[in-house]
Amino acid sequence: MTEMILLKQGEMVLKGTNRHTFEDKLRANIARRLRPLGKFKVYTRQSTTYVEPMDEGCDMDAAYEAMKHVFGVVGLSRAKACEKTKEAMLETARSYLGDRLAAAKTFKVESKRADKTFPMTSIALSQWVGGELDDRYPNLTVDVRRPELTVHLEVRDYAAFVHADPEPGAGGLPVGTSGRALSLLSGGIDSPVASWMMAKRGVALEMVHFYSYPYTSPEAKEKVLELARLLTPWTGRLMVHVVPFTRIQEELRRSCPEDYFTLLMRRFMMRISEGVARRCGCHAIVTGESLGQVASQTMDAMAVTGAAAALPVFRPLVGMDKEEVVRLARRIGTFETSILPYEDCCTVFAPRHPRTRPRLEDVEAIEAPLDVAGLVEEALAGVERVQVGP
Ligand code: ATP
Ligand code: MG
Repeated sequence: MTEMILLKQGEMVLKGTNRHTFEDKLRANIARRLRPLGKFKVYTRQSTTYVEPMDEGCDMDAAYEAMKHVFGVVGLSRAKACEKTKEAMLETARSYLGDRLAAAKTFKVESKRADKTFPMTSIALSQWVGGELDDRYPNLTVDVRRPELTVHLEVRDYAAFVHADPEPGAGGLPVGTSGRALSLLSGGIDSPVASWMMAKRGVALEMVHFYSYPYTSPEAKEKVLELARLLTPWTGRLMVHVVPFTRIQEELRRSCPEDYFTLLMRRFMMRISEGVARRCGCHAIVTGESLGQVASQTMDAMAVTGAAAALPVFRPLVGMDKEEVVRLARRIGTFETSILPYEDCCTVFAPRHPRTRPRLEDVEAIEAPLDVAGLVEEALAGVERVQVGP
């Protein structure tokens, strides 16, 4: 074994007595992502999780990429193993970090010694290697306070390791440590980002999509499944519950005032989502709504929509501008798919003058003649489940 990956844990370090639960979950999530990439050993020591390849078949590049998508990791670096002598560590630093040593102006060396039988103290080792590097790279001067580059040396029981500063990781909490929620996924820009944000806080997700065939095409559904698939490097495998929504929309169009249409539709989405959530053990609902973005996302409209569900509704984008959401969508890799042309079930039936300040009593009065429970049951009976994986 010549190389391994070091993962620095984030705020879960603060979890006190629960810390083991978080660490176990993190390791389980890591192991699951690594399974297709070879045989690895994963273990944690002092808030660092180590990923060691166990044989030559391990794809280290792919493993490193995969680890950048694991929530609960704040920083990660690749480390090179070498013999436990000061000369070997110096040579490894030169060959492994050569480009960075040649590019930096200031640096320092920091050493850790897990193997206390190693004949030098950490400070002496740092000084010796630092001095040698300083001599060999005229561009470098030592700055122990704010160096551009820190060369890390770790003397462990079976080998020494050399690595540079960690790159930023995905942050957040390990998926599965904050409960389970059902996320409403449309084909737009917002809902994949909202889902990602909740996964980042450690929430395990299932997805629900409302589908209005033949008003929306099979391609629109495929697009949503693709969006879910794009999230799986972050979330792990995802179950997408696809709900037939046409019958409800036709019923609303036939019998309800047009200006309430979107709101009534959203309330049905909430009720059905609650039914799906109950079936799959989800304890909250997630949407991509943002305050004031459209008529159905005013404060009053959100209150009327939220009142249709007893479960808590999480809206992680509520205070974000569209531009911020777009930036995040680009970063997580869903944007290009989100902007592909498609018809959404909501746009097909969108009212010309939607209500922006609805009152719950009025909405309930409009719904009174409808067979709400029957329509919800019928939709739930038609749910198709599709699992998507990375
Ligand atoms: P998005 O970009 O996610 O489509 P949007 O700004 O277009 O959001 P709306 O169409 O008003 O907003 O939808 C608000 C939220 O309702 C979405 O973010 C999503 O969570 C949910 N939603 C809307 N349409 C659907 C659908 N067909 N299936 C599942 N959820 C939906
Ligand atoms: Mg939408």
